[in-house]
Amino acid sequence: MKESLDALLGTGLAELEDAQGEAELQELRVRYLGKKGEITARMKMLGGLPPEERPAAGQLINTAKAQFEARFEEVLDRARSREKARRLQSERIDVSLPGRRSALGARHPLTIITDEICAIFAGLGFQVAEGPEIETDYYNFEALNFPHDHPARDMQDTFFVDGSRLLRTHTSPVQVRTMLAQEPPVRIIAPGTVYRCDSDATHSPMFHQVEGLMVDRKITFSDLKGVLTSFINQLFGTGTGVRLRPSFFPFTEPSAEVDIACVICSGKGCRVCKQTGWLEILGAGMVDPEVFRHVHYDPEAVTGFAFGMGIERITMLKYGISDMRLLFENDVRFLRQF
Ligand SMILES: [Zn+2]
Repeated sequence: MKESLDALLGTGLAELEDAQGEAELQELRVRYLGKKGEITARMKMLGGLPPEERPAAGQLINTAKAQFEARFEEVLDRARSREKARRLQSERIDVSLPGRRSALGARHPLTIITDEICAIFAGLGFQVAEGPEIETDYYNFEALNFPHDHPARDMQDTFFVDGSRLLRTHTSPVQVRTMLAQEPPVRIIAPGTVYRCDSDATHSPMFHQVEGLMVDRKITFSDLKGVLTSFINQLFGTGTGVRLRPSFFPFTEPSAEVDIACVICSGKGCRVCKQTGWLEILGAGMVDPEVFRHVHYDPEAVTGFAFGMGIERITMLKYGISDMRLLFENDVRFLRQF
């Protein structure tokens, strides 16, 4: 019994030494120690021995199993580290190769110009104010002195959400909300998205405005002109020509359209300025006393001015963009240029 067990163990250990790789080692383990393995089989043969010999024989078999098991673990370890070393040798990583870069986004030209406008007015002491894009008739029209039959209130021009709510057609409701929330003095700039039923090369149903409002004691039309001239010089360059023309808005009196000398032809006349040498960029005026009454300001005590401009138009003029739709198509080839 002992001799044949020693011989079996000897063969098994030798085979472990000769095995090539982990798979072969696992096979040997099954062949010797598995359920039907050769060493395991010896256990079943114990029953055929006289009872007094069984304990000693059982112990021999267990020792043989343990020896095989121990050697198996050793050889397996060795095989694994050899495999690892081989891989490190053959599968080299070239750390000098460039990595895979994810494309970096950038600010949209409209955002760049909005930020620039807000920064200029921040320098003039204005604070940024914001309001909801879904408004009521009261904030969008009524409080701004739009008569009930004003064409802007028509379904043709305004997107209505339901009977009483609409998508704001300008950022002016922010002025109303600000004045209702605080006492004068007020000095705000309100950038934001606005909506009108309109769509062609120069109109989009969604576009952006910046409006400003300054209310205090003794604010005059010359303050309006001074603030806007300073703004235009900072945005379009020092010495840019500024011209004010009388106009009409329901919420200001008097009102003016503000033109700048054409930035394309420097006032000589071109296609962009329709040969006039001037570009209209702003609407402005002194706040109508009726608007002050709506927000419970005393028109005898305070005066103020308001102005508004389309951010798309300013952006197109600054960058020489000819079609407004380019700003909303989000073609990366276009957007990469800014
Ligand atoms: Zn021009």
